[in-house]
Amino acid sequence: MNRYEKSKAKYEESKRYLAGGVASSLRTAMKPVPLFAQSGKGSKVVDVDGNSYIDYLLAYGPLILGHANPALTDALHEAMQKGITFGLQHEGEIEAAKRLTELLPCAEKAVLSGSGTEAVMLALRLARAYTGRRKVVRFHGHYHGWSDSIFTAFPSADMRASAAAAGGDSGVQPGTGGQSELSLQDVILLPWNDSDALLEALESHGDEIAAVISEPIMCNSGCIAPRPGYLELVRAETERRGIVFIMDEVITGFRLGLGGAHGRFGIQPDLVTIGKAMGSGIAVSGVAGSAKLMKLIEDGTVSHLGTLNGNGVATAAVLATIAELSKNEGAAYNVMEDTTQGLVTGLRALLKKHGKSGIINHAGGPVFHFMFTEEEAVEDFASFNKRDSAAYSRFAEEMLAEGVLVRPNGLWYVSAVHSAEDVEATLQAADAALGRLP
Ligand code: PLP
Repeated sequence: MNRYEKSKAKYEESKRYLAGGVASSLRTAMKPVPLFAQSGKGSKVVDVDGNSYIDYLLAYGPLILGHANPALTDALHEAMQKGITFGLQHEGEIEAAKRLTELLPCAEKAVLSGSGTEAVMLALRLARAYTGRRKVVRFHGHYHGWSDSIFTAFPSADMRASAAAAGGDSGVQPGTGGQSELSLQDVILLPWNDSDALLEALESHGDEIAAVISEPIMCNSGCIAPRPGYLELVRAETERRGIVFIMDEVITGFRLGLGGAHGRFGIQPDLVTIGKAMGSGIAVSGVAGSAKLMKLIEDGTVSHLGTLNGNGVATAAVLATIAELSKNEGAAYNVMEDTTQGLVTGLRALLKKHGKSGIINHAGGPVFHFMFTEEEAVEDFASFNKRDSAAYSRFAEEMLAEGVLVRPNGLWYVSAVHSAEDVEATLQAADAALGRLP
């Protein structure tokens, strides 16, 4: 019997009713079939065929406490029994926003939304309303959700060169069919970690630019660390020109520490967007930042809407996540750092053992990117684009066969409940999987 027989049958069944057979387009990338989950507990997930996997997909990032953390599920049950959502104010909202302002260094005020995409939409709107300007600088390889005003295709270095040759300066392409090119007319797309490119753009368009938005680590394309001084430069130059600096911490918020990446790096953006890990798998996100920007929501200049914003289940998830991650002075972060280090070191040794050319970029925190490439280092989007995606996808498929679930694009997330035994079993699996690669 095929190991994935039931997942395959469910996928066919799903396609009859659910457009594309998956609820988020990216999920079709999993080979040999988008798996159907049965249940999850701790660091493991079980599929409908009964196969158990050590899980480093972690639902694309949110499950920082692993699956079905008891403190979280108890808090969620309690919240649901009190009433799931009210459309009225409740104390959970105050508590959640209070904790965010206490923990995130840049946060004087916070608001709650439902997804990272919505948080980014709001942050951009605040920046435009505050500055009275329209343009937004974003960077190649960063991802800020799929709303029309910011979702661009991930162009390859070649596309950029041909756009430049054709007289286009930016290479901005819509990220999806059905997206108006006009929605991106205010986007200036720059290479990241390139101080000259940034300074040049700010020099030419500075007084038209409302915001610079950046992931603090380029987690969506290779987990590339900021060059020393780069984020500081972004901060200083945006401040000097009255531009709002939005740090998109949808991945790094609560993952790189309770104070996010900006707390860890000691940089104060004007606004921060958070999501994923802040709710441990419950749909919730937030924007936090300086009082002068958040005031635009208070005085009604900027609308912040959403039927389910701040619902009781979402705020219970935020509070339980923060409580768990804060225990014993944040001991979970040391555990995750050690676990991640064990995986990264072990995987690098295995690449060597098997004579495979690969790179594991780990810029700190429980997240890293594993890629097969002939490059000596992957420190920008152009070198990231040279990776062998097909080889990694094959590796991910072999890892599944060995009982380890990894995202087919190479990004690994680690939770607070992955154990030393999980690391050992994962490395054994990787040894076998690498051995089977051509
Ligand atoms: N910003 C970043 C940095 C992300 O990685 C993502 C999602 O992966 C988003 C925004 C969008 O978040 P969501 O998928 O919750 O809409």
